[in-house]
Amino acid sequence: MSRGSVRLLAEASAKLAEAGLESPQADARLLLLHASGLSITELLTTSRIDARIVEKFNELIDQRAAGIPVQHLTGEAWFRNVRLEVGPGVFVPRPETELVAGAAIAEAGRLTDPLVVELCAGSGAISAALVDEVAGARVIAIEKDPVAARWLRRNLRSTAVEVVEADMADALPDLTGQVAIVVANPPYLPWSAGIGLPADVGGHDPAQALFADDHGLAAIRVVIEVARRLLSPDGLVVIEHGDDQGPAVLDELKQGGFREGVCHHDLAGRPRFVTGRRMSGWSGD
Ligand code: GLN
Repeated sequence: MSRGSVRLLAEASAKLAEAGLESPQADARLLLLHASGLSITELLTTSRIDARIVEKFNELIDQRAAGIPVQHLTGEAWFRNVRLEVGPGVFVPRPETELVAGAAIAEAGRLTDPLVVELCAGSGAISAALVDEVAGARVIAIEKDPVAARWLRRNLRSTAVEVVEADMADALPDLTGQVAIVVANPPYLPWSAGIGLPADVGGHDPAQALFADDHGLAAIRVVIEVARRLLSPDGLVVIEHGDDQGPAVLDELKQGGFREGVCHHDLAGRPRFVTGRRMSGWSGD
């Protein structure tokens, strides 16, 4: 890397570390790539960074130090192999959700032309990854928030995913019992968790994508109900949840007509999502 960029990155990283951010080096590198428009190879071989780029970069570093998520500053987030556009009003997809998508993708890959529904779709990360990785999957993404739905449409416009702006509770009445997989990363943080969240979580993601009533379980309960309505017998539900909600969600699944409930861990070893299969002949049917 050129001396210019090495020094620039070192100073910026120190500033971000001082602001208490968790990945100062990676953030600084991403923001320099964004400010310069250069590829990493170009950055390595450039002898001098233009003053205009330095100025733009320093502004971005100041914004990042003030807690604005790096993805809002670059306008993009990567999720598995897909690039999403993100900004104010939509939840920035997180790495742990890549495994949630992975469970739906693995199931879809085993089936022939499966019908998959994503609930609480937000930026559309899970749906975009599904159609990217599973040929033949028909995917419908549901989002009720109009601002998030705009990002969703933008991210999925060049894919075959159908976007439906609706409340999941009564969405897709024509597809009762016909869906192979229902997947969701619903809001699941209890409102009490809002206090003390890092600024780039609490302050920039829309609250309705993060928090839910009933100790964070209210939206998960609706997801389970909707999954029971939409899934065909043996259809799979995949739901992300908080790391202390595994037993409660497994219990809800069991009560709600699902068998083979399993709680899966994320890469940090924390309980992060459940899967379950819709029972046929459940007493509540
Ligand atoms: N995972 C979120 C977070 O990192 C919490 C809410 C959600 O994903 N549904 O803050």
